[in-house]
Order: sequence, then structure tokens, then C-alpha cells
Amino acid sequence: ASRVVAFIGLGIMGERMAANLLAAGYQVRVHDIRIEAASRLVAQGATAAADVAEAASEADIVITMLPDTPQVEEVVRGARGLLAHPPKGRLYVDMSTISPQATRALAAELGAVGIDMLDAPVSGGPLGAERASLSIMVGGAEDAFERAKPFLSHMGSTIFHLGDTGAGQATKLCNQLVCAINIQAICESIALGRACGIDLVRMREVLLGGAASSWMLENLGAGMLEGNVDAGFRIDLMLKDLRLVLEMAQQQCVPLPGTSLVTTQYLDAKAHGGGGEGNQALFRVYDRMSGQ
Ligand code: NAD
Repeated sequence: ASRVVAFIGLGIMGERMAANLLAAGYQVRVHDIRIEAASRLVAQGATAAADVAEAASEADIVITMLPDTPQVEEVVRGARGLLAHPPKGRLYVDMSTISPQATRALAAELGAVGIDMLDAPVSGGPLGAERASLSIMVGGAEDAFERAKPFLSHMGSTIFHLGDTGAGQATKLCNQLVCAINIQAICESIALGRACGIDLVRMREVLLGGAASSWMLENLGAGMLEGNVDAGFRIDLMLKDLRLVLEMAQQQCVPLPGTSLVTTQYLDAKAHGGGGEGNQALFRVYDRMSGQ
């Protein structure tokens, strides 16, 4: 019999990741609090479940791709959650970006009832999810990592075991501050380039060929010049990540002036109604500042 995956959280990322597991030949049981989120996957052969317990009971592995810490805690500790209804395979992989500390607490509670938990947050955006080319940052026990790896390999192409529980989340938070400050840098060069009358389309192209090139400039730069604020990764989620980065920095007593500043700028974007826009929409904050 083919192996059973329970996939919980079918948003921008989760739907694409679950589709790749289906395409790989697994039986996939899906659940989302938005009932309609399952419909396209069901058309591709997935089974919709009414709650976590129903999705997880027969699963070899349970995967979550949820917005934030409270939703993951609900999946684990809720009345129909994993602690009360342990999945058959006793392996749980959280691929959301959440608090490393909360992750360690959840892994300890699950471990006490014999369920292995891995934290395995990702980078690469909706395109990386669609192409199964995500970078996956894993924390937890080595043997659990080995059991999860075949499943992860259908969602990502760079898969690293980085240490004990929480190490994946800590690495992802280091990743996120680079993303945020990189977008900020692109916004600043656009603001200055525009004021100087430079052809910004050509400027982006020549930057891509040199040391200023980046994933952000390549994938989001052209849209930023066209005023595209569509959400691949929402500003609200970026603010959640930056909060987690600064919490971790405070716990470790590491000053992060760049992260602190870009957090304030993302708050500015949200205060002006942009929380649901994509993280590249930081250019609007710069447009306002420079009167463009
Ligand atoms: P999303 O909001 O599009 O998807 C989250 C899904 O979870 C939604 O469909 C929502 O209905 C569902 N959900 C919420 N609470 C639930 C619950 N209690 N039970 C079941 N389902 C529930 O978010 P996303 O962009 O797919 O991001 C998911 C996670 O991945 C976040 O932690 C985010 O930070 C991280 N992430 C996102 C991106 C990106 O580019 N969008 C990239 C890397 C990592």
C-alpha cells in the first residue's frame, strides 16, 4: 500500500506542496479550516478530512503549513489534535515558520507520547513550492530526519538537517532578516535611481549581472518597478517573522539594527493598509518618503 501523508494548511504554500506529494504517488489527506481550500487537491486525488484527527489517524507522516505559532499549537494541543489522537506513523513535521521556543515545548510534549516532531521551515516562495525546489531547514532528531527525508525530497531540493529541535526555525529566522533587508536595499536603489532619471528596467538587468544580484531582485524586482503588490508572501507574515527574529535576538542579546529599522518600515506599510500585500510592496513606503 502506498504511504499516507496528512497535510494541514492549504494556503499559498501548502496547496502547492501537497500537490507535489500527490504527484509523487502518496495518498494525501488534507485539512484546512477554509473548507474550499481543499477543492483543487481533491480534484487531483486527495481526500478531504473534517479535522486534524481525521486527517492524521492513518498517516505515516503529518505535515503542517500554517500561518503562525498559535495555529500549530492548536493542531498539536486541540481537542481533535495530535496529542489526543496520535497518528499511526508517529512522525510530525511542521513546515510553517513559528517560534523556536514554542517548537521546543511542542516537541517535548509530543515526544512524551512517542511522537517525533521535526521543525522544517522553508524558503523559496510559491514558485519554489510549485517546482519542489524549496530550501528546507530541519531541526530535530537524526533518525526522525532520515524517516522524513523521502517525503521532504518531493517538496524541496536543498534539504539540511541543522541540529536539535528549534535549529530549523532559528536558521529560517536568520534567512528572513536577509530577505527583508534585501528588499529594503532594492527599494532604496529604486528610489534613488528613479530620482536620478535612470532607466530602472535596464538598471535591474545590469544589477542582475553583477554583485548586487539576488533572488529578490530576480523574482520580485520587475514587479516592484511595475507597482505590483500581489501577495506571494504577505507583509503580515513578514511582520510575524521579524517579530520572531527580534525576540530571538533579544533572548541572545544580539543587537540587530538593520532588522529593527526594516521592521518599523514594514509596520509603516501595514499602518497604511498594506498588511495583505506582498512583501515587495515595501516600495510604497519609499514612494511616500521620497514623494514619488
Ligand atoms: P497562507 O495564509 O496562505 O496559508 C495558511 C493556511 O492555513 C490557510 O489556508 C488557512 O486557512 C490555514 N489555517 C489557518 N489556521 C488553521 C488551522 N487551525 N487548521 C487548519 N488550517 C488552518 O500562508 P502561506 O503563505 O502559505 O504561509 C504558511 C507558512 O509558511 C507561514 O508560516 C509562512 O510564514 C511560511 N512561508 C511562506 C512563504 C510564502 O512565500 N508565502 C514562504 C516560506 C515560508
